[in-house]
Amino acid sequence: NTSQPRLPSFLKHPIPSGKSYTEIKKDLRGLGLHTVCEEAKCPNIGDCWGGDKGQATATIMLMGDQCTRGCRFCSVKTSRLPPPLDVHEPENTAEAISRWGLGYIVLTSVDRDDLIDGGANHIAQTISKIKQKAPSILVEALTPDFAGKGAEAVHLVATSGLDVFAHNVETVERCTPFVRDRRAGFQQSLTVLEEAKKAARAANKEILTKTSIMLGVGEEADEIMETLRRLRASDVDVVTFGQYMRPTKRHMKVDRYVLPEEFAKWKDVAEGMGFLYVASGPLVRSSYKAGEFFIENVLK
Ligand code: SF4
Ligand code: SF4
Repeated sequence: NTSQPRLPSFLKHPIPSGKSYTEIKKDLRGLGLHTVCEEAKCPNIGDCWGGDKGQATATIMLMGDQCTRGCRFCSVKTSRLPPPLDVHEPENTAEAISRWGLGYIVLTSVDRDDLIDGGANHIAQTISKIKQKAPSILVEALTPDFAGKGAEAVHLVATSGLDVFAHNVETVERCTPFVRDRRAGFQQSLTVLEEAKKAARAANKEILTKTSIMLGVGEEADEIMETLRRLRASDVDVVTFGQYMRPTKRHMKVDRYVLPEEFAKWKDVAEGMGFLYVASGPLVRSSYKAGEFFIENVLK
């Protein structure tokens, strides 16, 4: 059977509106920044950008729009040799963000296996410049695994002054070779999260670690349980669950649409296991309303 399951109504979303949404959109035009929120047509944009601007969250993309990897769920373009980094990007991004007045910013990037350090210096520089210019903005970096670049790459980012170190395992271990690029690995990703925490502690910096899991790619319930256990054992603080949505027909198929009740169940299970915060729902994305949550509950 090659057909996809039908899109359930709980995955259809309202058109964004609200004062802060319109303001940010206007600002963005002027600053020439690229957000995942807009480019991936994220269904949560009204929620994340809406309401109180001081708690609004946006996700900025660094290091270009071409990735050296090709994960089967991801719509980012693949290139063996993307253009060189823009050396002015850390400064320009920091300048723009500090003028923007948001409470929480997520920095994400493509994987740059072509660079000696995987882009770790570039990401770390961007974070420390943002913190210099606007110390009150909370910064989350959603990082690559820096595979083959040595532990220093992870350490550099983890001690750059960020508040939340995020790296996504994306799925359970068994599904990883099918879902993610062959250079990614479940254990490798766990190690990145562990190393980040250790490096920050060693540098006397408090950070939270965070990961995201897509449901609907073929995982089984017992495998989700096992994943949560291993994440806790690696001292991961925050986990999010969302529905996998197929970006185009060239991407892997959706295995199933997970009901809101099941997402609610995973939230309860994970909270019971001691995660500090769990976001779980059909439309939840890694950065979903991160600002509102972290500012209110964890980092105050
Ligand atoms: Fe997409 Fe990240 Fe995979 Fe690159 S490494 S293809 S950006 S999910
Ligand atoms: Fe942007 Fe992430 Fe919110 Fe989507 S969930 S609107 S990508 S911050």
